[in-house]
Amino acid sequence: GPFADMGIDARINANIAAMGLNKPTPIQSQAIPSVVEGRDVLGLAQTGTGKTAAFGLPMLTRLIKFGKKPDPKTCRALILAPTRELATQIATNIDAYAEGTPIRSYRVVGGASINVQTERLSRGVDVLIATPGRLIDLIERRAVDLSQTTYLVLDEADQMLDIGFIHALRKIARILPRDRQTLLFSATMPKLMSELADTYLTDPIKVAV
Ligand code: AMP
Repeated sequence: GPFADMGIDARINANIAAMGLNKPTPIQSQAIPSVVEGRDVLGLAQTGTGKTAAFGLPMLTRLIKFGKKPDPKTCRALILAPTRELATQIATNIDAYAEGTPIRSYRVVGGASINVQTERLSRGVDVLIATPGRLIDLIERRAVDLSQTTYLVLDEADQMLDIGFIHALRKIARILPRDRQTLLFSATMPKLMSELADTYLTDPIKVAV
């Protein structure tokens, strides 16, 4: 099928076929081959375009391919989203794509017990899906270690700026390894956003849908 042809892991491919994802959306056709190769991506895309699969499928494929267990407190990949609702939606999708693989995801958002989150994070996680505010709390409590996080996704990045998460984003980006793969998705590209993209992305593939 088309996703397998783009290099998506066989087990993930079976999962998404069962979910009815048979034909890539335009953003998926444009982004997936580059993400599978390890390139950075700057995506101008609204919600509803299939962007969760556009970043999720190739990122999960790479996590499986370059498999290693996460060390305690670390996460291999970090997905940042502006709201609890979006973080939850992303986590649901990631879990469905990764079913039957060794990849484990965990979602941390405000309004839930930070002690429960700290306990789960102590074991390490492959994919951490977070809202920036709660992640900063967890970083300050030394509950999470981002020194091995080599995949970063910023989803609905313009909304994160609108909410006032710019300082949180800068702080998180400072902690992450420089040698990483970064994917930034935004529905709009104001000046501050293109400045952030210039700072956080390396020679990105640009996709717009
Ligand atoms: P998103 O833009 O990631 O929020 O996705 C919007 C909706 O489209 C979700 O319900 C996805 O499951 C669905 N979707 C994503 N990719 C595809 C695809 N290639 N074919 C059919 N549905 C899809």
